Amino acid sequence: MYEPVDSPDETTLFPYHDRTPPTTADVIRARRAVEEYLPRTPLVRSEALSAEFDADVYLKREDTLPTGAFKVRGGVRLVSQLASEFQDPGVITASTGNHGQSIAYAGRVFDVPVTIVVPEDANPSKATAIERFGASVVFHGEAFDDARERAETMAAEQGYRYVHSGNEPLLVAGVGTAGLELVEECPEIDYLFCPVGGGSSAAGYCLTVGELSEATVVGVQSEAAPAMYHAWSEGHLEPAKRMDTFAEGIATRVPFYLTTSVLRDRLEEFRLVSESAIERGVKDLFTEETIVAEGASATSLAGMRQRREELRGKTVALPISGRNLSPERFQRIIGTEP
Ligand SMILES: *Cc1c(COP(=O)(O)O)cnc(C)c1O
Repeated sequence: MYEPVDSPDETTLFPYHDRTPPTTADVIRARRAVEEYLPRTPLVRSEALSAEFDADVYLKREDTLPTGAFKVRGGVRLVSQLASEFQDPGVITASTGNHGQSIAYAGRVFDVPVTIVVPEDANPSKATAIERFGASVVFHGEAFDDARERAETMAAEQGYRYVHSGNEPLLVAGVGTAGLELVEECPEIDYLFCPVGGGSSAAGYCLTVGELSEATVVGVQSEAAPAMYHAWSEGHLEPAKRMDTFAEGIATRVPFYLTTSVLRDRLEEFRLVSESAIERGVKDLFTEETIVAEGASATSLAGMRQRREELRGKTVALPISGRNLSPERFQRIIGTEP
């Protein structure tokens, strides 16, 4: 049994949480597990966006992964390395979305019990998706933080391995394997625009595309949830005052120590975009490409549109980070007049 230890940020850590930021070598080591259990995702030229930007725009289709989002790369790598003492009790985490599906999927692959704590009013279809991967769902509390505290208490009392959503070097390294695939197929890339929530995805691209190619990695966050933006630009780990984006994949209130340290070192540019620009991105990805992308994914398209001039004639990569958008939200966005 483990009790929480002092944390450099406002989240909870246990003694088994390694605080060493991951390296490019860690991403390369993560490759084997990810390759064995997940399909490689396609890299596809977007004719519509290439025309719009007068550039070569490539979409990295992370939405084609079995959970519909990139996070499962990290889940598979983390659970593949689970210490034997946690094999029987299993792992626990709190999530309202793609992180929960990722850990549930990885638990099924490695035959490890998984418990996901979600707030009581969580979208029932999200809970069903998690249960389909064989995990148990515990409903607790009104807000995400109530669910998170419940998961932490259960970990301390019942001996589960608590999976942090950002301060996990193995998660970040696993997520980074998307960037390895990208540089192999398209080494001439000039820019990569990446959505930022807790920063694991951007950290993974900085360690791969940023390290192994000439590309500039640009992080993009909603101005309605700018926690990591402030951590990156001001060098502190204070929770943001505002956190009300509709895009739940990037709805992070507290900056994470580990991802912030990678991004402070390596991320060259970070932009904030409006909620309406994100909605516009969701709509355009559907009407132009017939891709259903959740709000978090469309954030980076909104970021590209702030940089139109510089992108002319360049090779640009845009990860489609996930497709888990509720039908109600999708209909509302698609139904609005242009
Ligand atoms: C989690 C998530 C993000 C943000 O990734 P971080 O690693 O938390 O910054 C972006 N898009 C989707 C679909 C996500 O699920």
